[in-house]
Amino acid sequence: MLAKNGKDTIVVGGGVAGCTAALYAKRYNLDVLLLEKTAPGGQVATAARIENYPGFPDGISGPELAERIRQQAENYGVPPQLAEVTGLEAHGDDWLLHTSQGDYVAATIIIAAGAHPRSLEVPGEEELRGAGVSYCATCDGFFFKDETVAVVGGGDAAIEEALYLSQLAARIYVIHRRDELRAQPYLQQQAFDQPNIQFIWDSVVTRIIGDEQVQALELHNKVSGEDSRLEVQGVFIAIGYVPATKWLGELLELRNGFIVTDQLMRTSQPGIFAAGDVRDTPLRQITTAVGDATIAARSAHRHIIG
Ligand code: NAP
Repeated sequence: MLAKNGKDTIVVGGGVAGCTAALYAKRYNLDVLLLEKTAPGGQVATAARIENYPGFPDGISGPELAERIRQQAENYGVPPQLAEVTGLEAHGDDWLLHTSQGDYVAATIIIAAGAHPRSLEVPGEEELRGAGVSYCATCDGFFFKDETVAVVGGGDAAIEEALYLSQLAARIYVIHRRDELRAQPYLQQQAFDQPNIQFIWDSVVTRIIGDEQVQALELHNKVSGEDSRLEVQGVFIAIGYVPATKWLGELLELRNGFIVTDQLMRTSQPGIFAAGDVRDTPLRQITTAVGDATIAARSAHRHIIG
């Protein structure tokens, strides 16, 4: 099943999952190409500080961890190459990948294209990102010990974020644009039972205020029409993720836009695997991306040796 004029494996995405998958695929002695759209490192490269990745007891900056992982892939002979992937189609038993740098054929494809948190798109959000504006309580909640924070959103992720933060922060306001949560009832009940979680209904954030650090939010109540100011030291935005899967068209089974896999990271098409944030998964962490990628590389190898 080895690709005749192509690669054994093409990894799409040069973030943590992509670099890890490439590194492991190399260790399986596969001929690997690693493609990245812009700059290697993915979301990790944008994190100020990472304190929950094992092996770094004093924490490590996001860009440094991303660079180390990229360097490790390069040491194995798979430096990420810049190319934007635009389409994927069957090519006999292989796969044909269309990219901005031309077409490639491979026996297997590992998709690790990632996802980015949906942004509120309000003034102050971009400017204060990493300075009190966060999209990940598991990553940044620790920095808000005993402080007052807000969580924006009403889905499972927002409520899970609020519950996680309730163990760290003194007070958590959940700001939701309707008067009813979308989250599963059991999560809702846990949040309602938590004395330091308070709900602000029918409201949207219209501005995030702060000079060097978040100081307050400007809120607009959609029912009463009133505007108000809420003093908080941090705001966690959990209004969904946008996965990088548009380029796949209808090729793979998706759930809410994320690629559905089994526990071997196999997608709905033979020879195509997915790993990391692009996958339909309950948790999007560096640790889970690394685990997914390791399994995806093994599955790609298994697929090739038959
Ligand atoms: P989600 O279910 O799409 O919920 C997004 C929430 O953000 C909704 O409450 C939505 O409000 C709100 N929202 C969206 N755009 C907004 C905007 N521009 N301004 C203000 N609010 C906005 O997203 P998610 O919570 O990230 O979950 C994604 C998927 O992962 C879901 O299928 C979820 O079930 C799953 N998940 C599962 C678990 C678990 O099972 N433990 C944990 C996390 C995620 P409306 O309700 O008004 O639309």
